[in-house]
Amino acid sequence: MLSIIIPAYNEELNVSLAAEAVTSLMKSNLIESEIIFVDDGSKDKTYDEICKMAKAFDNVRGMSFSRNFGKEAAIFAGLENAKGDCAAVLDCDLQFPPEKIIEMYTLWQEGYEVVEGVKTNQNGSLMYKLFAKSFYKIMSKFVGCDMQETSDFKLIDRKVIDALLSLPERNTFFRALSFWSGFKSTKLEFKVEDRVNGKSKWDLSKLTKYAVTNITSFTTAPLQAITVFGLILLCFMFVLAIETLVRYLCGYNAEGFTTVILLLLLIGGSIMMALGIIGYYIARIYEEVKGRPKYIISKKTDE
Ligand code: UDP
Ligand code: MG
Repeated sequence: MLSIIIPAYNEELNVSLAAEAVTSLMKSNLIESEIIFVDDGSKDKTYDEICKMAKAFDNVRGMSFSRNFGKEAAIFAGLENAKGDCAAVLDCDLQFPPEKIIEMYTLWQEGYEVVEGVKTNQNGSLMYKLFAKSFYKIMSKFVGCDMQETSDFKLIDRKVIDALLSLPERNTFFRALSFWSGFKSTKLEFKVEDRVNGKSKWDLSKLTKYAVTNITSFTTAPLQAITVFGLILLCFMFVLAIETLVRYLCGYNAEGFTTVILLLLLIGGSIMMALGIIGYYIARIYEEVKGRPKYIISKKTDE
């Protein structure tokens, strides 16, 4: 059986469209499937719509979070509740073409355990595109494989689901974890459609936070960067010291009060920045140690 997980946050107009599109698609291709809607604490009637769909179609289920926990949490809640032999994640706004799930499913039947959806285009403003591009460049370096244009649109085997669910960490990054888990994978290109109803949930501040969280949860490189930066400053100091000494021996007085102030500012600034980076990691450790759940489910349609 194929489980299709659909995270939905303020998507009241899209829930029924998604449920109908996916159900008829699965029926016409004779694939046994279940659809799991995860309402990520929406403020509109998303959950009511999900309940309606659960009544109308017997392969549709749904649950609702007590508040907004984020898409990542919604995906994991879906995975945890999935009963299928494989699971696909689909956006509720139908920006990911549902027909591609059939192709993904065929690839899975051929023996692939992870089928990654790869975007051939990128929607959004120029700013968003630039931001996304640089974020994926950095992430690709850290994860060790090309993450350019990847998305949350993928199909994973039961083995991969169980592996991901067994990870103890709270801060997960689904998009990179499927690579990281290292199962037999393949790619499938798809074109991102424009959003029809509602609007994107991302803005620059949310994206920045998402980027920082994911980079720090995947790599400790910023911590090492601090050491390198400190070493560079030290070298600089040595050169300056030697120069001053030579000047002194030649009978010139050391001068340049401005230089002193600038150096003080530079060093003060870099120390604070370094402390900030370390602080960020400590905060992450603190969050992990607290061991709070990724999400809290308040309602389920089948209970
Ligand atoms: N989403 C979610 N929780 C959030 C934000 C988004 O579950 O806090 C869902 C949203 O309902 C949609 C998917 O994640 O199904 C992708 O969101 P969106 O379309 O806003 O992102 P974009 O396509 O612009 O990257
Ligand atoms: Mg979208």
